[in-house]
Amino acid sequence: MDAEPMRQPSGPLASSDALHGDDQVVRSLERPKTLTERVVRWATADTQAREHEVAARTVRRYRIRARSEARERARVSRLQATLLSDGLPADAVMLEARKQLKEIWRNMAIQSLPNRNPFHSDLEAAWKNKNKIDAIVAEARESKDLAQIPGLSDLMTAEMAMQTLGAEVCRLAQVAADDRFLTKESDDVDGATVTVVQHVSSGLRAQFIPCTEESSFGSIFSKPYNIASIDLDNKGNCPDWEVYVGLGIGTSIYRLGAKALPEIRWRTGDLTEFSSAVRRKLHHEDPYKWATYDCCWCKANLSQQWDVALPADFDGHS
Ligand SMILES: [Zn+2]
Repeated sequence: MDAEPMRQPSGPLASSDALHGDDQVVRSLERPKTLTERVVRWATADTQAREHEVAARTVRRYRIRARSEARERARVSRLQATLLSDGLPADAVMLEARKQLKEIWRNMAIQSLPNRNPFHSDLEAAWKNKNKIDAIVAEARESKDLAQIPGLSDLMTAEMAMQTLGAEVCRLAQVAADDRFLTKESDDVDGATVTVVQHVSSGLRAQFIPCTEESSFGSIFSKPYNIASIDLDNKGNCPDWEVYVGLGIGTSIYRLGAKALPEIRWRTGDLTEFSSAVRRKLHHEDPYKWATYDCCWCKANLSQQWDVALPADFDGHS
């Protein structure tokens, strides 16, 4: 117990007074040194003294929290200074942290939403809640990659994760909203003219190849890494093209390719999750023109293969 004698305040102590630091009162109500002292003091105190004790505890809690927050700010500053002195620019460090957060959400989304872009604005509800953000941050902090950069995991917060994912949604939405496409008829392949359609901002592109033997059918190849870019300005150097799939750009590319070759019906080939989704959408818009593997209506109602079906056979298609 402090040497200063216990003083009874003359009136009720408003907690706001205590929070503003009435040191005289707070000192008089300091915590007893032992449990026995504490019990005795509490048992013998009158109501007013107990109220003062509660107020004093509140003051202590606020002061401890303030000191803790100040220490945390100082710790982060020292950490950032250390990273800088080790030759790692702060911007690069934060860039790495943001990259990790996006990658973790991307991997989580692939499990449950395999044919959607995880940063599509339609899917914001899937990550924009406290539980999911906390889970993403927790996983990022345990990441082995981050462990190679001392202290980096501690810099990540729920607020930063929310901001990072939201910024990526905005960025991809801007890319997807770009309506600039390039179209070019390129070299003949086995006698057929190949049409390439390319989206300018993402670099996504596809080849539309009519069959030479059966002039009414054609195939589509949509692997950008296997198709030479037709964009002379940026040479199609978009190594991160995969981040742009699942935003609806592919559907626009397919529509433009089909528009350039209006007589062609488009067969299915090897489909990825994303091209399957594009095919399903286009098949339901025009089932005669676009084939798909998994249409329940066609399985139930077509009496022959899609290849030999006539336009009238798709009447009532849903
Ligand atoms: Zn169908």
